[in-house]
Amino acid sequence: MHALVIGGGVAGPATAVALRSIGAQVTICEARPAQDKDAGLWVMLAPNGLAALEVLGLKDAVLRESLAGAAGPSGFAPIRRAGLYRVLREAAVAAGARILHDRKLVAADTFADGVVARFAEGPALSGDLLVGCDGIHSRTRTLIDPDAPRTRYVPLLNLGGFASGVDAPGEPAQLQFVPSPKGFFGYTVSGSREVWWFANLPWGAEPTRAELAAMDRAALTARLLDTFASAPSFVRDVIRATWTDLYALATHDLPTVPVWSRDRLVLLGDAAHATTPTSGQGSSMALEDAVVLAQCLRDLPWSQAPARYEELRRTRVESVVALGARASAAKLRSGIPDNSLDWVLDHRIDWSSRV
Ligand SMILES: Cc1cc2nc3c(=O)[nH]c(=O)nc-3n(C[C@H](O)[C@H](O)[C@H](O)COP(=O)(O)OP(=O)(O)OC[C@H]3O[C@@H](n4cnc5c(N)ncnc54)[C@H](O)[C@@H]3O)c2cc1C
Repeated sequence: MHALVIGGGVAGPATAVALRSIGAQVTICEARPAQDKDAGLWVMLAPNGLAALEVLGLKDAVLRESLAGAAGPSGFAPIRRAGLYRVLREAAVAAGARILHDRKLVAADTFADGVVARFAEGPALSGDLLVGCDGIHSRTRTLIDPDAPRTRYVPLLNLGGFASGVDAPGEPAQLQFVPSPKGFFGYTVSGSREVWWFANLPWGAEPTRAELAAMDRAALTARLLDTFASAPSFVRDVIRATWTDLYALATHDLPTVPVWSRDRLVLLGDAAHATTPTSGQGSSMALEDAVVLAQCLRDLPWSQAPARYEELRRTRVESVVALGARASAAKLRSGIPDNSLDWVLDHRIDWSSRV
């Protein structure tokens, strides 16, 4: 079996490792160039996501790359997005997968015995199946179902950055929340005065890409300082000491994608179900998906595997998306989102059992 995996973010390389472990040949097709510097900020990997990484044999490598080199007291591990992508891609290549960059999927033709993927640039590729790991704005999703729903805007602006030389309270790698009447601040520390942080500001109308690109750093900083004027003073110190871009991003989610697969195309990760960042679960859900899809392809004929994968995953991931939406709404009311839900965090996939 030759799998064309579209997207080299979190889901793509994890899927590649999982599929290599069941003997599939894998080609990852990533739209962005190899030397891409714009890999965003940081994510928290949850205990259930780390458990999925353990099934893939990647937990230790990912933890080594994380902020404190180990999970924090509550079992979460903060990691730079760029570092996570790099570790996962290196693992995929080490497992025998091929990664092609500058391969933006635009079309896919399915036949009785395979699929041909077409790209904005470069030659078409053929395979036995195509796994769409192409993120929240997935092209694969609309190739599977032209009527697939669009993402939903959640009225919060995400900002964040990395700050050095600031004292902020907390154990290394522990996520700390500072709600305030006008916004929400979260952060984690390294133990050596390095602070990784994010902020969410209520943002009524959805900003366009052009509006986001035009957001002036000085103006955003002033707005953040005003938003957190009544918060503990270290919050403003962190904002002032930030040496990176502020990564202003609109928030979206994708509650239900009615069709996850068609012919030899199947969706995985944010392409199938995107939750708001507030759930802290998007990457972990993608990692779980990767393991379960590989399990289904290992144990079932190709014709049955996508349906079984969807059956095993849909309720859980849609519940997590709903959790993220509730938690984002709580932020708009200046509350602390309840993310400490055992049913999410304690989930473990038994790779040795048949699906
Ligand atoms: C601000 C923010 C904070 C977040 N914080 C957290 C957190 O703390 N914890 C957590 O678990 N999750 C978090 N998430 C969610 C997490 O980032 C996603 O759930 C996760 O990245 C999903 O992985 P993915 O591989 O499905 O998508 P992505 O990581 O987005 O990867 C998709 C890849 O596909 C590529 N691609 C897109 N279109 C094409 C195409 N047509 N052809 C080829 N390639 C294509 C893209 O370039 C990209 O590399 C956060 C998200 C945001 C926006």
